[in-house]
Amino acid sequence: MKDQQRQVISLKTQGLTYAAIGQQLGFSRQYAQYLARPDTKTCAAVLSRAQGQCEECHCSLTRGHVHHKRIRCEVDEFNSLDNLSYVCASCHARLDYASDIKRKSRGQYVDRKEERFWKIFNEAQNNA
Ligand SMILES: [Zn+2]
Repeated sequence: MKDQQRQVISLKTQGLTYAAIGQQLGFSRQYAQYLARPDTKTCAAVLSRAQGQCEECHCSLTRGHVHHKRIRCEVDEFNSLDNLSYVCASCHARLDYASDIKRKSRGQYVDRKEERFWKIFNEAQNNA
């Protein structure tokens, strides 16, 4: 794992958002998110395990999202096969929103807006 990737993942597992990580390290939220991604081989293994279905709701998928089940974990665990699942956009929005609510209830900083959740959720419903 490259130093920069380890640094991003380490901050992520401490509960920081990609926006906050980017700000801290001097690059964009998108680049922080890009660096934290699992490698191609791991993504391929996740996709192959899912066999074309969302691993949450089991709807059939052609283009799903790779979701991190646990954010607060060891750096090396973050992109491990066990910590990843292949999900539809609707499940991904719901799962990430649920973890935001949990963080909010623990008084941790959240910058993801509720509107963003509903935007993604509604788009996913409309495309279903
Ligand atoms: Zn789903």
